[in-house]
Amino acid sequence: MDYGQSSKAVPVGSAHSKYRDIRLNSGRRTVAIPGPSMMPEAVLAAFAEPMPDIYAGEIVEVSDSVRERMSMLAQTQSQGFILTGNGHSAWQMATSNTLAKHDTVLVLESGLFPRVWGKYTSVTENLDVQYLAERDRAAVDLEVLRERLTADKGMKIRAVLMAQVDTASSVRNDVAGVRRILDETGHDALLMVDCVASLATERFEMDNWGVDIALASCQKGLMVPPGLAFVWASDKALQAYERADQRVGYFDWQMRLDTSSMYNYYAGTPPIAHLRAMKVALDLIEAEGAMAAVWQRHEVLAGAVRECVSVWSEGGDVEFNIIDEAHRSNCVTTVLTGSIDPVELRRRCDDNAGLVLGMGLEGTPGFRIAHMGYLNPPTLLGVLGTTEAALLSMGAELPNSGVAAAASFLAPFLSDS
Ligand SMILES: *Cc1c(COP(=O)(O)O)cnc(C)c1O
Repeated sequence: MDYGQSSKAVPVGSAHSKYRDIRLNSGRRTVAIPGPSMMPEAVLAAFAEPMPDIYAGEIVEVSDSVRERMSMLAQTQSQGFILTGNGHSAWQMATSNTLAKHDTVLVLESGLFPRVWGKYTSVTENLDVQYLAERDRAAVDLEVLRERLTADKGMKIRAVLMAQVDTASSVRNDVAGVRRILDETGHDALLMVDCVASLATERFEMDNWGVDIALASCQKGLMVPPGLAFVWASDKALQAYERADQRVGYFDWQMRLDTSSMYNYYAGTPPIAHLRAMKVALDLIEAEGAMAAVWQRHEVLAGAVRECVSVWSEGGDVEFNIIDEAHRSNCVTTVLTGSIDPVELRRRCDDNAGLVLGMGLEGTPGFRIAHMGYLNPPTLLGVLGTTEAALLSMGAELPNSGVAAAASFLAPFLSDS
């Protein structure tokens, strides 16, 4: 019997047409969007537990165990804040506690997210938001940044805002490089880094890299349903609090700095179920071997995705959004689709195969494959294989199988030696 199948499109011939009305989506639906990510069952189970006393016992222990490990997450000794909110709430906590009305901030564009953060903060804090070069297919250009900071003789720029990974373009920026340019130009602006997509997916060392504010939320690399946000503030950021004149009650650091009172730290009732879920997620991260192991797993799995998309690209119908391979992120990959309609591609994946791919966002049409959080080869290869099948179903020219290339890439990592 010959099982030698090529990866060419299945001919829609008579044998196939008898299955015309069939759909293959009745197994477990796989969601490969860049947040919320796929979540461990043990994390989800935490949401089914009954509520405890909120001032003593279990929840105090859970809260302490999460708070203690905040420093591990961002590799920092600086003050961490946990709030009930999403990424936007962390944006607002960062800027409202450190900047004054009409301050100038410089947003380093590298896709949609820093741009939206800039727009958001211009409204919430009446800031004068300036942008460094609109870029959707490349990382922040450090030499252009150097020129911009050098030209700012009066140091009007109070803060530099950037995303480590922009989830729309799927670029990874060089955070340590931005710090270096600030130092070399002698500029004293605060460096604020959005790690919403990159926390627990990409190497991030807040203290070693001289980051003043790092922020994130829990629904991406941290594998917890949306609802918790995190902000870490260096001493310099905490000092900037003194001149911030637009602090907003719920986000204000003052009450939250009272770490002796759990009630004050959370500015009210702690997000109990989320904290329990977060504790489970942190336990899983530690069991894996802590941050270094998690970063490496993401790097390897992302390598398989890049291998696959490279092979797909040989046919000319799809291509990487991020041109320089050194700046392709380890948590999400944006794929441009040329003449293949990405809306129809995503519809086929979802309706006919039970796979939800990320959609292209403003500035980067195409689709996105998330590879963040609770992820291993069977899930990832399923995502890539299903996407390949959908591309073939749309007549994409794929001379070779990207999935086969991804499997070959992963093979050495399945060996024990
Ligand atoms: C998802 C995301 C956000 C927005 O987070 P919300 O929780 O939707 O507010 C911000 N920045 C980046 C880089 C993201 O990936």
